[in-house]
Amino acid sequence: MRLIKDGTAASPGIVEGPLRVVHWEVPRVPHETIEAGAVEAELARLDEAVARATEEIAAIKTQTEERLGSVQAQIFDPQLLMLQDEELLEGTRAYVRDNHISAARAFELKVLEFRSEWRRTGHPMVLDRLNDLLDMETRVLRALLDLDGPDGEPDEADQGYILVARDLTPSMTVQLDPQRILGIAVDAGSRTSHSAILARALHIPAIVGLRDFSEIVESGHPAILDGRAGRIIVGPTEHERTVYRERDIRVHEWERELLQLADLPAVTPDRQPILLRANIDLPGDAEDALEHGAQGIGLFRTEFLVVGRSQYPEEEEQYRAYRHATEVFPDDAVYIRTFDLGGDKYPRFLEMPPEENPFLGWRGIRVCLDVPDLFRGQLRAILRATAHGDVRIMLPMVNEIEEVTRTRAMLEEEEDRLRAEGLPYNAGYKVGIMVETPAAVLTATNLARHADFFSIGTNDLTQYTLAVDRGNARLGARFKPFHPAVLELMRRTVGAGREAGIEVSVCGDLAANPLGLFLLLGLGVTAFSVSSGVLPEVKKVARAVPIAGARSCVEEALEARTAEAAAAVLMEGINQHLDLALFSGRWSLAPDEEAS
Ligand code: PEP
Ligand code: MG
Repeated sequence: MRLIKDGTAASPGIVEGPLRVVHWEVPRVPHETIEAGAVEAELARLDEAVARATEEIAAIKTQTEERLGSVQAQIFDPQLLMLQDEELLEGTRAYVRDNHISAARAFELKVLEFRSEWRRTGHPMVLDRLNDLLDMETRVLRALLDLDGPDGEPDEADQGYILVARDLTPSMTVQLDPQRILGIAVDAGSRTSHSAILARALHIPAIVGLRDFSEIVESGHPAILDGRAGRIIVGPTEHERTVYRERDIRVHEWERELLQLADLPAVTPDRQPILLRANIDLPGDAEDALEHGAQGIGLFRTEFLVVGRSQYPEEEEQYRAYRHATEVFPDDAVYIRTFDLGGDKYPRFLEMPPEENPFLGWRGIRVCLDVPDLFRGQLRAILRATAHGDVRIMLPMVNEIEEVTRTRAMLEEEEDRLRAEGLPYNAGYKVGIMVETPAAVLTATNLARHADFFSIGTNDLTQYTLAVDRGNARLGARFKPFHPAVLELMRRTVGAGREAGIEVSVCGDLAANPLGLFLLLGLGVTAFSVSSGVLPEVKKVARAVPIAGARSCVEEALEARTAEAAAAVLMEGINQHLDLALFSGRWSLAPDEEAS
């Protein structure tokens, strides 16, 4: 068999070996009814199963902490929280009581409800958590059905292999033996799914999002997996085997070089210092950002405090989270973005009405201003965190001056309250906006009078400019951040910010793309925020391309009539300074091969 397939590069490394396809399933639950007199005993069985699952997950968490560290161990927290979720537990109990069905069946039904609700959101962050739900569900069902079954590797094998599965749960992944599992190739998942994070921590090369790969291939087929490029070749030719072995050696050298970059300054060859901050999704990611050489946090997405929750997050919990990130970066700025709820994100406590067009709906700052109790709690927690460092408040999806002025007014009121309560804060904090809509760009000059900084969210700016849903796989090829319209809007934003004398940074994914970074440097942006994993590569680009060269190339790219033409100009420009072959993602694909 011969097949070349591209997925999402999830954990770097090149390996060669036979495939081993593993099919594992959630236990089948028979539809069992119970006698009215047996309800209490069944409920007690449920409690026992939940307690056992909690114990098992806690034990895996402890092992993970010992083996990989506390940040990785936190991956199991969502499962532990789900096992305490009153809606889940009470809902299951109600099914047992009212319908006289077995606890296993009731639990399965309740989880099914959660799953379909989460699926409907379509948001990658929520979809990633589906896998945690599955992990937790499997464990509880196994306990209820009295099934044992090992965690981790499904069966023994005497030689190393590339594990292929539809999906892997976090607890399976963390128990894989890196000595025998050469690589992982799974149909589902994204770079941020918990299994992908654990694969990286275990240094097992991995590709996720391979769609139907596990259904097409069979165990025993020889393959090469390139976790840096996100490509798997089944039945490689001799030539390909040689090419990939050589590439493996070059990649190792490259990785060593990248590692050393963490301590070197981000400065262009023509001596322009570049600020490289990190995007984080959880407070615990801050340490990782620091290790990767981040100079602060450029985007702290705070939705983890609300997504999937059935209650408002407590002010104390928020304060601890914000304070933690600030304390990891005592000398650098930390941009905390206020809740970017709505659209596709999942605030259960808000009972968001279903919307025809959620991305054009009740989203971002609109939700916060309409739900002042929630917003004030967050603003207070952020204000309190200002006492510990250089905290900047960043508002998402701003379209109107009034959205900024109303937030400022609320902040002033909360400051008064904090003062009255004797709680410390630093009045010198900054308030700025994400520039994510064409409306914000076209009124940027006026908005700049009220904002202390702009941060361009290139993901949403591209989506709203081109009217192309960023999460719609069918439109993937039409999502073009190099489209002349998007380039023009970015140019205008930078110009408006410069005129107003405020910082314009970029925290969207475009900054993590070497061509995108080259473009932004040429537009005059010198502050970026990207996820920690790509920081060294971004620094590599910054240290290789002179601003003057980028500027003249970008002038030409701005004249291009299509996204493709602009990208071609940029590619030609960047190639004069840098070889992109080893960068993660599509840049690094082996020559002359087309994926299926
Ligand atoms: C963006 O839109 O580019 C951005 C950084 O915000 P998010 O991806 O969280 O919407
Ligand atoms: Mg956005």
